[in-house]
Amino acid sequence: MARYTDAVCKLCRREEMKLFLKGERCFTEKCAYEKRPFSPGDKSKRGGRRQVSNYGQQLRQKQKVKRIYGVLERQFRNYFARADRMKGVTGENLLRLLEMRLDNVVFRMGMAPSRKAARQMVRHRHIAVNGRTVDIPSYQVRVGDEIAVRERDRSRQSQYVAAGRAVKGLGTTPDWVTQMDAKTFAGRVMSEPRRDHVDLAIEEHLIVELYSK
Ligand code: SF4
Repeated sequence: MARYTDAVCKLCRREEMKLFLKGERCFTEKCAYEKRPFSPGDKSKRGGRRQVSNYGQQLRQKQKVKRIYGVLERQFRNYFARADRMKGVTGENLLRLLEMRLDNVVFRMGMAPSRKAARQMVRHRHIAVNGRTVDIPSYQVRVGDEIAVRERDRSRQSQYVAAGRAVKGLGTTPDWVTQMDAKTFAGRVMSEPRRDHVDLAIEEHLIVELYSK
């Protein structure tokens, strides 16, 4: 499956905000965005802000969301089409679908220090949903699902899991999921996420405008 492989810190600099793609490093002085908070190659950013067109703003919001959740264009369009068919506000539906991806839930429960690391855990078959191994990062969890590090992987994964717990600055465990239990290595999906659970500076209505043209 296709995935983005370029240096991830460039993505934060391009979006001019911290996307928290590297786990613990994002909270240290090594963070590339802290050192150079302007787009790569854009010397003018040291001075003032550029004028960005309406289309440019819409595009940037879409790119930002894709990058935060690690989703490529075609899959993102599929999410949007699905969100558009659902009842309610399309932008919020879109964020809910992305939040309920298994890799995001593993990250939110504190089992991994970043969404990228969570995706790798899922791919490498370290995660079970309701006792069954699931190795599809985009798997949509449901309310009531139990997500756990597989029993045979627990000792091997404990270091990884500890790294996930160490990342506190992002507030990784909103109350729609429980934090991973230290003994059982499991957490539960308590409800569907609401918009205010998504602690990211995203203007999703601009994405809806972009795709509605
Ligand atoms: Fe972004 Fe994290 Fe890299 Fe900082 S360290 S630029 S927040 S991915």
